[in-house]
Amino acid sequence: DPTGEPEGTLVRTNENYTPDAEKPDRIDATLLALVRNEEVDAMVMSMRDLERTWNSKFNYPWTFFNDKPFTEEFKRKTRAATKAKCTYELIPDEHWDTPSWIDDQLYRESTKILGKSGVQYADKISYHKMCRWNSGLFYKHPALKDTRYYWRVEPNVHFFCDIDYDVFRYMHDNNKTYGFTINLYDDPKTLPSLWPETVKFLAEHPDYLHDQSARKWVTDDIRRPEHNKAAHGFSTCHFWSNFEVGDMEFWRSKPYEDYFNHLDRAGGFFYERWGDAPVHSIALGLFEDSSKIHWFRDIGYQHIPFFNCPNSPKCRGCVTGRLTDGEAFLHHEDCRPNWFQYAGMG
Ligand code: GDP
Ligand code: MN
Repeated sequence: DPTGEPEGTLVRTNENYTPDAEKPDRIDATLLALVRNEEVDAMVMSMRDLERTWNSKFNYPWTFFNDKPFTEEFKRKTRAATKAKCTYELIPDEHWDTPSWIDDQLYRESTKILGKSGVQYADKISYHKMCRWNSGLFYKHPALKDTRYYWRVEPNVHFFCDIDYDVFRYMHDNNKTYGFTINLYDDPKTLPSLWPETVKFLAEHPDYLHDQSARKWVTDDIRRPEHNKAAHGFSTCHFWSNFEVGDMEFWRSKPYEDYFNHLDRAGGFFYERWGDAPVHSIALGLFEDSSKIHWFRDIGYQHIPFFNCPNSPKCRGCVTGRLTDGEAFLHHEDCRPNWFQYAGMG
């Protein structure tokens, strides 16, 4: 006992609780959620699961983001779901508004066609803004200035397994940049020009390609050749970004900043429906050492309609190994085998 006090003299009202100040080895990290006021009950469900299985042992703060001010009801209900600190942040207009170089007429015409071809959310402008913000803007919010690691949490997701170690410390101590649970194919119709734009960008910046990158995972054309063809050279296999644990130093690096700006100017966040998941995944797959990307096999997770469900006595409420409880065809959407083939276990 470093304080020299006899055991048992410390009075603690809550056995598991240690105030932040007592933990000198804390990692600069936050749980992070972009969420709407009307999703508060679904957000609280996600919080309850993550607090029960993990955060009640570590008390990392929660940071909530919204393009509209959070209501008192939202604040009250989310504060009640954790003993960690909660902060509520408004997204500045310049991070959320459609950029000036986007042509409104062209946006409406092209998304109408996308919508007709079955692209989900094609004509929902807020969805396009959300994907753009998650791709290249969230980590620029002034509230995250002194924060390095984040764990993204959406409303209405589930966590099934007790996690007894500090996930952020794991990332830091093992020099990991990014952690994921689920790998899926994307709908190529959402991103026909994303890979062609990426190829142009790489031609301008050949030095950004990492020696140890997972480039072959990004460009695989063996398992789903029709996806690669429709996406003009991108496998569409991506880290499903509604779950992500990441080091924002990667997003704040020059290669990623240049890449995001290139894509943003090209317009595909609006004229097509590029998701933040394929954008993040391509960048990680090209500009990062693949061994710095980690599969959290031990974090049992669900975002409808997919699961990551490990075989462990620490897990309750999901079926081991099952990817989906939706229709059988959804099983074909899993591309984790590609990741393991090209990039190993991370
Ligand atoms: P999906 O998972 O692709 O179907 O998309 P979601 O509807 O779940 O949206 C992804 C995340 O962004 C969720 O955390 C939503 O709460 C959040 N989100 C989406 N659109 C908006 C928006 O217009 N405003 C705010 N504040 N959050 C949004
Ligand atoms: Mn979602």
